[in-house]
Amino acid sequence: MRLDRLISNHSQYSARSARLLIADGRVQVNSEVARDARMEIDRFMMVSLDGTLIKAPTTAHYLMLHKPVGYLSATSDPLHTTVMELLPEPLRPLLHIGGRLDRGSSGLLILTNDGLWSRRLTAPQIKTPKIYRVTTAEPISADTPKRFAQGIYFAFEDLTTSPAQLERLAPCEARLTIYEGRYHQVKRMFHAVGNRVLSLHRESMGSIVLDHDLLPGAFRPLIQAEIDSVG
Ligand code: URA
Repeated sequence: MRLDRLISNHSQYSARSARLLIADGRVQVNSEVARDARMEIDRFMMVSLDGTLIKAPTTAHYLMLHKPVGYLSATSDPLHTTVMELLPEPLRPLLHIGGRLDRGSSGLLILTNDGLWSRRLTAPQIKTPKIYRVTTAEPISADTPKRFAQGIYFAFEDLTTSPAQLERLAPCEARLTIYEGRYHQVKRMFHAVGNRVLSLHRESMGSIVLDHDLLPGAFRPLIQAEIDSVG
């Protein structure tokens, strides 16, 4: 909501008076004097007038979780244990997942209550690189890196995946970088070249790398540099 409207909604002042208060330097946003009455205020911002709090900030949460195999990336489910059960109870209703992993996959999962931020992390147009360690049922053929770099056609969505980089580490093991997060994307890419994924582990999303010290099931808050690295 615009700053002038927010002030008028939370005080006896009209939006016009609020603009005068802003011009007089009497309004602070996040402890800094605000100058622009049209500034958009989100729920994580704090607004005060003459030092008196008008709108308290909602606490923003940004977590990385080492998702273990067997947990569902969902906020609730009648059948399966969800990743939410790995988090403290008071946080559970607040958070959503920024980029799901299949139940059989493991690795970096991001949870937050900041929807704008998580959309920047996951929007296909932004092309955040996501790096996976993959093991396959069959040896990865020599032409698979080229096929993935050309993009794989998904008939169901009628689209071709963005060029992806595949680094073969062993006959049945590779590191894959993709730039979207389509439904079962990695499994479908390998299926398209006649192979099958046996295990999938996400190492990173953009500059956010799964902490080596984080055991499966453990989580930690993101540090400011990790939060700021998203968009
Ligand atoms: N691609 C998949 O097929 N599964 C995942 O969990 C993530 C990416």
